[in-house]
Amino acid sequence: MTMHKPRLAIVGAGMLGLAHALAAAERGYQVDVYERDSQALGASVRNFGLGLHLGHAQGEMLELARASLQRWRQLLPELGVWYKEAGSLMLARNRDEADMLECFQQALGSEYGTQLMSQHQLSEAGWHGESALSSPHEIGFASAQLIPRLSAWLQQTKDVRIHYQCAVLGIEDQVLHTARGQVKADHILLCSGHEFRHLMPQLYADSGIRLCSLQMQELRIAPRSIAPTLLTGLSCLHYPAFRQTPQLVLLAERYQAQLQQQHPAIPEHGIHLIVQQLDDPSRIIVGDTHHYADDAAIFQSADADVILRELCSELLQAPVSAIRHWQGVYASAAQPYQMLKPQPYLTTVNMTAGIGMSVGLALAAQVVESL
Ligand SMILES: Cc1cc2nc3c(=O)[nH]c(=O)nc-3n(C[C@H](O)[C@H](O)[C@H](O)COP(=O)(O)OP(=O)(O)OC[C@H]3O[C@@H](n4cnc5c(N)ncnc54)[C@H](O)[C@@H]3O)c2cc1C
Repeated sequence: MTMHKPRLAIVGAGMLGLAHALAAAERGYQVDVYERDSQALGASVRNFGLGLHLGHAQGEMLELARASLQRWRQLLPELGVWYKEAGSLMLARNRDEADMLECFQQALGSEYGTQLMSQHQLSEAGWHGESALSSPHEIGFASAQLIPRLSAWLQQTKDVRIHYQCAVLGIEDQVLHTARGQVKADHILLCSGHEFRHLMPQLYADSGIRLCSLQMQELRIAPRSIAPTLLTGLSCLHYPAFRQTPQLVLLAERYQAQLQQQHPAIPEHGIHLIVQQLDDPSRIIVGDTHHYADDAAIFQSADADVILRELCSELLQAPVSAIRHWQGVYASAAQPYQMLKPQPYLTTVNMTAGIGMSVGLALAAQVVESL
């Protein structure tokens, strides 16, 4: 007698949809993924390709990041895509940033496995800054290549069926109304990224979820190898890991006030600098800005693009020039993710912070376990 595999239908073939497809296929589901476009075009292919460890607060999110990075280390060689395990370097550009990094290292360095580098050590290594936090755990990958490859690999090796150009237009009980007809599933998972409201507006009416629009650029540099992902002390104002002690909160508030006075355009555009080099030594990916509203921003700020390039050039002590720029959008809320189960057969999963590439694999395993 053949056993009937439970049928799982997933809406969205971004990082979250594919991560759930992997977890579910490995747990014995027959998985069908429905993607509106001919390939994933959302946040999952517009990001830095940074598997981040340093920024997450201790507890659930740090644990999810650790488990996901461990999974990526197994998966990436199997996928046969380019990736790097070069960690990250968070450079302090001034005394305020150095104070935050030193405070973090003292309080939490052993938990995060970071090391504080002095100005002298930095200049010997060819970097410019007051000091820096060096973290060995970060992974880098080229998301725009990784996501299509993961999709192909899931179809080839895990028997996952991915239906591109097949928008889901509505969900009624266990039936999905798709652009190509109706299908029935035992369970439905909604992983529709920042378009979460479209299929089930009533579910999200009071969810507090907004959209964050971000500006990203690819820049040309004189060829050189930049192995770790570069961040600066500006990231201490962005990542929850740097708000875990009263002293860190105090220092962040002081720096925020300082920036507001001296460089108001940086907080105005929500800029924090990340520099990621992929496999081409003459190019870097640089971002980002953060604009929060109910809808995605219409316009991108030319000023913010210039500020990002100036910050980058200062950090690298080298000229940079623009190759291309793009906008990314993700859902945003006070909590880093939201999972809802409005019906026993329906689960929705939204990343509501910019960390889905870093925590998505482990989060999906947890969600599938709970179906
Ligand atoms: C600029 C930027 C930089 C970032 N950098 C990083 C980083 O370096 N590291 C990190 O960890 N995270 C980063 N993030 C966050 C990360 O990219 C996201 O958390 C993650 O990609 C979210 O994945 P997702 O699958 O939920 O969303 P998406 O990638 O948006 O995928 C959702 C998919 O659902 C499809 N869809 C929607 N509605 C329907 C429908 N009705 N029918 C069929 N298909 C539908 C869409 O077409 C889309 O392909 C960044 C995000 C941005 C925007």
